[in-house]
Amino acid sequence: MAEHKNQIYDLVIIGAGAAGLAAAIYASRYKINHLVIGQKVGGLAGWAPLIENYPGYQPLPGQELMKRFLEQAKSLGSNILEGEVIEMKKSRNNFLVTIRNQQKIIGRSLIFATGTERQKLNVPGEDEFWGRGVTYCATCDAPLYKGKIVAVVGGGDSALTSALLLTEYAKKVYLIHRRDQFRGQVVWQERAMANSKIEKVLSTNIIEIKGEEMVQQIVLDKPYQGLSSLEVNGLFVEIGSTPSVYLVKNLGVALDEKQYIIVDNNCRTNLSGVFAAGDVTNQTHLKQILTAASQGAVAAYSCYHYLTKK
Ligand code: NAP
Repeated sequence: MAEHKNQIYDLVIIGAGAAGLAAAIYASRYKINHLVIGQKVGGLAGWAPLIENYPGYQPLPGQELMKRFLEQAKSLGSNILEGEVIEMKKSRNNFLVTIRNQQKIIGRSLIFATGTERQKLNVPGEDEFWGRGVTYCATCDAPLYKGKIVAVVGGGDSALTSALLLTEYAKKVYLIHRRDQFRGQVVWQERAMANSKIEKVLSTNIIEIKGEEMVQQIVLDKPYQGLSSLEVNGLFVEIGSTPSVYLVKNLGVALDEKQYIIVDNNCRTNLSGVFAAGDVTNQTHLKQILTAASQGAVAAYSCYHYLTKK
């Protein structure tokens, strides 16, 4: 950490997921002196149990793919700092970035690649049992549920891939979705439907999580096979994410109505010298590692032109 203190970089990239690390790889190619700051290297992609659609790679866990992104960025010369940015300010023509331990870094330009944060169910018991049966990461916690009964809530790719991963450990997986149709990719839907350990509970919401030391029951908003609650040992909440934008708000970066950063086709925000890439932007409706990485490359390219003109 000390080596970065009060240093001036031409570019500071906030976020070390697919978009941030791809931006770093391209920044190195453009010989931009840059620093990547990320709280968790790999971002949300690192949580994906299995990636089967990243071109050039046979199926591999998200963590493994992100490790390769990181190694490539480092080998090309990127400076990577694991830390939490707590404040961003404009200071003359530069940007002042404050890290949690109060150290400050100056950037001539910025790329926001802060991604998204897991959405919560917001039902009674969720906070109380977090880490005691309620979890948001199947990749991290699935092995803890060997021989147990678990539930996954959600209807997108995260829920489907998590349910599939869990069948490798748990004896039964309830897949609970609020609608009667899943929205995840057809290939995941087909595999989940074909898996005899997965039991679908459709058009149903979870309204409470109960237990003692650990989760024991989830209460449903309508009976399933005559039961108003299901006995489970764990609940995996996989209901999407919300953009992580608290840092950009006081800089005056424009957000859309859903709080995503508004960027143009060149990943430029409304502020000169400030770019954004990946899931945090309003540009990618298809939120994938591939689209996040490609936006990271575009943001670095735009930044290169900005710095050259400056
Ligand atoms: P998502 O696609 O936004 O799906 C969220 C799901 O949660 C939806 O089915 C939604 O229901 C449900 N939901 C939202 N709020 C809820 C609530 N309060 N209570 C109950 N259910 C709720 O999110 P995601 O599955 O995390 O995927 C995000 C992006 O990452 C997608 O672009 C996806 O393709 C990508 N991804 C890809 C992979 C892969 O290919 N390996 C893996 C994971 C994620 P409704 O359908 O009713 O809205």
